[in-house]
Amino acid sequence: MNVPNAGERTAPAVPDVRSSADWVNRFADEVIAEAARRSPGKPVVVASGLSPSGPIHLGNLREVMVPHLVADEIRRRGVPCEHILSFDDYDRLRRVPAGVDPSWAQHIGKPLTSVPAPPGSAHPNWAEHFKAPIAAALARLGVEFRGISQTQMYTSGAYVNEVLLAMRERARIDAVLAQYRTKPLPAGVASGIDAAAGTDAGPEAAEGSGAAAEDDGAASAGYFPYRPYCSACERDLTTVTGYDDESTKLNYTCACGHAETIRLAEHRRGKLVWKVDWPMRWAYEGVIFEPSGADHQAPGSSFVVGGRLVSEIFGGWQPIGPGYAFVGISGMAKMSSSRGAVPTPADALDIMEEPVLRWLYARRRPQQSFTIAFDAELQRLYDEWDAVARKVADGTASSLDASSYDRATRTSASGLPRTTRPLPYRMLASVADITTGDSDQILRILSDLDPDCPLVSLDEVRPRLDRARCWAMTQLPAGERTRLLSEPDRRALAGLSPAQRSSLDLLLAGVDQDWSLEGLSRLVYAVPKLQAGLSADAPPTPELKSAQRAFFALVYRLLIGKETGPRLPTLLLAAGQDRIRALLAG
Ligand SMILES: [Zn+2]
Repeated sequence: MNVPNAGERTAPAVPDVRSSADWVNRFADEVIAEAARRSPGKPVVVASGLSPSGPIHLGNLREVMVPHLVADEIRRRGVPCEHILSFDDYDRLRRVPAGVDPSWAQHIGKPLTSVPAPPGSAHPNWAEHFKAPIAAALARLGVEFRGISQTQMYTSGAYVNEVLLAMRERARIDAVLAQYRTKPLPAGVASGIDAAAGTDAGPEAAEGSGAAAEDDGAASAGYFPYRPYCSACERDLTTVTGYDDESTKLNYTCACGHAETIRLAEHRRGKLVWKVDWPMRWAYEGVIFEPSGADHQAPGSSFVVGGRLVSEIFGGWQPIGPGYAFVGISGMAKMSSSRGAVPTPADALDIMEEPVLRWLYARRRPQQSFTIAFDAELQRLYDEWDAVARKVADGTASSLDASSYDRATRTSASGLPRTTRPLPYRMLASVADITTGDSDQILRILSDLDPDCPLVSLDEVRPRLDRARCWAMTQLPAGERTRLLSEPDRRALAGLSPAQRSSLDLLLAGVDQDWSLEGLSRLVYAVPKLQAGLSADAPPTPELKSAQRAFFALVYRLLIGKETGPRLPTLLLAAGQDRIRALLAG
């Protein structure tokens, strides 16, 4: 950063402690300053890139969320900012994803926009089929962006000057690339990336936008950074065999047997190789900020080489580009994904609210890896989210918690959907589980929670209820489902000790006195105290806690045939008074 008056550096406008703790603020400061230096008076440009070569993995959402959060902070400060999202839909189809007809292999090597969409798709081609769901998910998440189709850019001739420049400068480009080709990756770098990519998400997730490993244009006939798609077979199995700078005539041969001479100044069916393409676009779009995955950041990687090419060839700047760490997925039930084993942002939004998903990205620095849980860990995440919300509401949240909560719940343009009465997610999931998702029963149970302020309509607890219900229906393993016994367990009832019998009688005597979540919570903890001859509000002791555990296990066994289950007051409310009497009475 160029600061004209060194004295200003000692009095920054933003306190250091704040900017260092809040990564979004820190990058926004840096990006605004850099944009003012590079292109004063123009809107700030931040960028993401996604390859619609298959379903876009939930882990790849970080590619969009990091620039989104920075762009949104810049806009909140009143500085115009554009978030461009490049769809690398002019890349070649590299492989046929699992679950797709193997006959699609005939399309390998064609641009993704020239490959037919999977059978049954409503979309015109492969790329559009996989772009549509991510675009819809981003809209739900409040991500404002300008989508750029690289197919549209290349085939319209938008980059023709840049392509001719790169071909003219091919010897210099080759010389830069050569410096990195001869440098093997330090031991551990490549394997570290592989290890990260080899977890749940597989290599698809690590690949990201463009392929770090794609060949860079070197061939025996000389170095050419442009690769035509064959006009006969549409594939990129082509080799450039000669080029004349003066006439821009280019000769190529294709593995299919086709050979042709074209005039590059007019040619529209081809593209720069990835390592040249990316820096060309930084210069073309004036990108100030673009993060990338760890695989793009290693020595000799696209980002490092691109930094040389963008200034030495294209006269632009390398963006501020932090590497972001891997986002893992845990506990996703296979059955819930109809698109194969790859969880997408839409899958996450089926089971969690938009602000919660935004929060996961906002609260972690890009360098921190984290895991998105589809299992019961999600309930703990929601507990944490609700605790932060309460602290924000009563003014006791830390400034860091408050700012990440704020970034999660609204953008500079609008608020995200909120649940009017955010009942605990774990309770909603339990009620949905016990009722097998039946809306009438759910409403009855939730109306009993708080008789002073009864629920009138399920809309008050939406959209959270819908996400919790979907979670219970799709992610909860069959063995963990809760089913009330249809008939009393007479054998167990006959074998009760007198003390056990009297504990159940105390419970039954109490249920109709305060039929509410609060009343039942008090009651279930009070029963063992009353049995011990203590008052209902006696302080807990180790003996009492042990008696409470035994009492709860007894009730669970008699109601659902298991030792544990949803929180007992919730279970009692869900069961209803008649059912409780039927299953617990002697
Ligand atoms: Zn061909």
